[in-house]
Amino acid sequence: MKILVINAGSSSLKYQLIDMETEAVLAKGLCERIGIDGHLKHTPLVEGREVFNEDVAMPTHSEAIAAVIDKLTSPQYGVVNSMKEIDAVGHRVVHGGEKFASSVLITDDVMKAIEECIPFAPLHNPANITGIKACQAVMGKVPMVAVFDTAFHQTMPAKAYMYALPYQYYLSNGVRRYGFHGTSHRYVSSRCAELMGKPIEELKIVSCHMGNGSSLAAIDHGKCVDTSMGFTPLVGLPMGTRCGDLDAGVIQYLMNKYGYSIDEMLNILNKKSGVLGVSGVSSDFRDLDKAAAEGNERAQLALDMFHYWVAKVAGSYVAAMNGVDAIVYTAGVGENSGPTRAAISKYFGYLGVKIDEEANKKRGEDIEISTPDSKVKVFVIPTNEELVIARDTRDIIA
Ligand code: ADP
Repeated sequence: MKILVINAGSSSLKYQLIDMETEAVLAKGLCERIGIDGHLKHTPLVEGREVFNEDVAMPTHSEAIAAVIDKLTSPQYGVVNSMKEIDAVGHRVVHGGEKFASSVLITDDVMKAIEECIPFAPLHNPANITGIKACQAVMGKVPMVAVFDTAFHQTMPAKAYMYALPYQYYLSNGVRRYGFHGTSHRYVSSRCAELMGKPIEELKIVSCHMGNGSSLAAIDHGKCVDTSMGFTPLVGLPMGTRCGDLDAGVIQYLMNKYGYSIDEMLNILNKKSGVLGVSGVSSDFRDLDKAAAEGNERAQLALDMFHYWVAKVAGSYVAAMNGVDAIVYTAGVGENSGPTRAAISKYFGYLGVKIDEEANKKRGEDIEISTPDSKVKVFVIPTNEELVIARDTRDIIA
């Protein structure tokens, strides 16, 4: 069985074709500048096929999908003989609100429900819907499945997801914590249990997804019980460019002081804050590491704040779960930056965490970076959201 995994953005579309017999990625790629001009980078991962990296006209997502199918089935670049070999499509959908606690087969009713979640993710859900419709237009009756970023967090208890606002805003408007990166937290926590050789139902795990956007999740006996992102992905930890948790009074103060509109203010909080805002250097942790090593104090402060916040939120999750068996680091920063992992893990001395410095230098694989006598296991697990989407798609169409 071969499954195409699609992650559609407003002007981009990422894809992978996965062979479910081996779970090998046969080809992957990225369409960019959809609606502007269009560019496709298609990378086959089977021998003897060439990379395609050229401009292709993509006035809409339908042309983008058609270009992807064309390349996947081409003798020169392709990895299958015809579209008939693609058994199903799995779509990443950002927001499933309270309607979706798991992945679902896409039907007309499901499309309506995803549309109803647009107010919660006004930039992402419309792009995801466009991607689904474009696939349906080009691929006809091939079964399609939606996998939601928010679904894994639907097991949170009300005490964790409610905001202390007048209750009517929850009842009438769905204002609550939803959380994001759920597919990633789900993948790394289940992989963590596999690596520990224990059922996930016996474990308490803190999962740290640290990339450009970052969030933590508390996973108690396989179920998410808390997560640091909220109604939107703006809150929780300081991120590349997002501010994380912030006193709402600051917003009123700055808007009054500088006459910002709410859009201008949110643009500052989303795009100009985080480690970029504090350091004035970059949102990229590699640049911050370099600047800090050269003595840039604000770059060091931004890094210190990030480490502190991860440790502080993780500590609150240990309290929420009344213990922890394993801590997992994942995503761009978590997978690649040994110094970041070491700096955060230093805060976990009270838990009996001990890091193996040599293991912490390794990259690019599942690694246990705690020492054998560490009371809590610490892992680096490269996330694989596409594989989760493909597996859910396989299971649902079966
Ligand atoms: P996104 O949230 O956009 O999916 P990723 O998970 O791909 O992001 O993470 C991207 C981030 O990973 C970059 O901003 C960069 O700071 C960080 N990163 C990648 N490699 C390294 C590295 N070697 N050291 C530190 N940070 C890294």
